[in-house]
Amino acid sequence: MIKLASPDLQNQDIEAVLDVLKSGNLVQGENVEKLEKELANYLNVEHCIMVTNGTATLHLILHALGIGPGDEVILPAFSYIATANVIELVGATPIFVDIDINTFNINKNLIEEKISTKTKAVIVVHEFGLMADIHEIKKLCDFNNLFLIEDAACALGAKENELYAGTFGIAGSFSFHPRKAITSGEGGAISTNDSQLALKLKTLRNHGIGADTKNKIEFVLPGYNCRMTEIQAALLRSQLKRFDSILQRKIYIANKYLTGIQNPKLTLPIYNKNKVHSWQTFHLLLDKRLNQSQIINNLKEIGIGTNYGAQCIPEQVFYKKKYKHKSETEFPNSFIAYKQGLAIPLYEKLTNIQIDFIIYNLNKI
Ligand SMILES: *Cc1c(COP(=O)(O)O)cnc(C)c1O
Repeated sequence: MIKLASPDLQNQDIEAVLDVLKSGNLVQGENVEKLEKELANYLNVEHCIMVTNGTATLHLILHALGIGPGDEVILPAFSYIATANVIELVGATPIFVDIDINTFNINKNLIEEKISTKTKAVIVVHEFGLMADIHEIKKLCDFNNLFLIEDAACALGAKENELYAGTFGIAGSFSFHPRKAITSGEGGAISTNDSQLALKLKTLRNHGIGADTKNKIEFVLPGYNCRMTEIQAALLRSQLKRFDSILQRKIYIANKYLTGIQNPKLTLPIYNKNKVHSWQTFHLLLDKRLNQSQIINNLKEIGIGTNYGAQCIPEQVFYKKKYKHKSETEFPNSFIAYKQGLAIPLYEKLTNIQIDFIIYNLNKI
């Protein structure tokens, strides 16, 4: 069976974890601190703050920015559900915007009409590892005095003209779930150039212990416990060292798919060549006469793991009950991407034989 996703942990990664276990220092320490510097260095930002996962990152950012009841936050209707859940969890209201069906990213032209006097922030998702139209959206946010938050959970290494995803807004959010390019099981990182915000995030992550009070423990805020463990940080540091080669391998596989898959019933993803796609997911669109779950089942029977790519969030039970959106007409492209999308295997250790097998079978659909 070729799985849809599979992390590729190597011996040196496992050794790094063993070193931590032998040291006995298990929670947020030297490895976390070093990783924060290494990741900030990679992204070319002032600060990175490691936390428990890529949902806690977004939750902490919203909390730290003071977003809460009465506030509205704009986001794409098509994303992983967590992007919307965090808005609900701080008591704010998610305002959904449809996507561009070619890129699966938020349609920048539909944002302005959703801005109201209550709007506080826009969460841009770089869906599947392709950067959204960040420059235009940043302009819009600056003009309207809105926080720009980047959900770059899928987009470590994605860039446009040498600028990395997660470095444009007030804060960026990354995930290290096993579905992502490098993993610590669970894990997340926040990137920011705002020192004030970084300090607040570090304080909130650690029970509200003032992050700037050296040698003295002062509880200056009601905080969470969102600390990363040393085990997770050591795993990530080890993988970050070879991240460029992981990304190159993923780009190589994606290019094989882009040239090899030739089937009029499948629409391949499109992207502008001035962007580096991090290919967290290779996401196709099935012809509307094909049945998504049947295709997923058929492929599973011959040993290829696939799934839909992301949710049309307003269609999910909680959101449908609360907001009663008619997604099919209000967010037609998000609805199509949800119902006709197909994510296929793409990860470092896929062999060329497996890749050819996948291409061969997709062309037979
Ligand atoms: C994976 C993902 C998340 C959630 O990250 P976790 O680490 O699993 O909490 C949030 N947003 C997007 C777009 C994701 O792909």
